[in-house]
Amino acid sequence: MAFQPNILSVELSEKNESAGLYHFLVRFNGVTCRVFYEKNPTLKAKSITRLLAEPCPICKADYYCNCMQRFLEPIEQQINERGLITPEMLAAK
Ligand SMILES: [Zn+2]
Repeated sequence: MAFQPNILSVELSEKNESAGLYHFLVRFNGVTCRVFYEKNPTLKAKSITRLLAEPCPICKADYYCNCMQRFLEPIEQQINERGLITPEMLAAK
């Protein structure tokens, strides 16, 4: 069964404004990932890693794997379409 990323929530986790780096926690059904964004000059998703607390929804590994990277583009698209990253979020902290 193919993984269908459906984002439940997006939360700003860390940021380094001067370097233009933003790190978000993105929660899906059964899995949470860190998504790293770079602002240069617009915000763009660069990479994604799964939190190891839950097994990978694709390969079922409970250790490090690279599966989620294949979904970075549709995930970024979904974040954009649903407006899940707001200027207020970026300004917070
Ligand atoms: Zn995997």
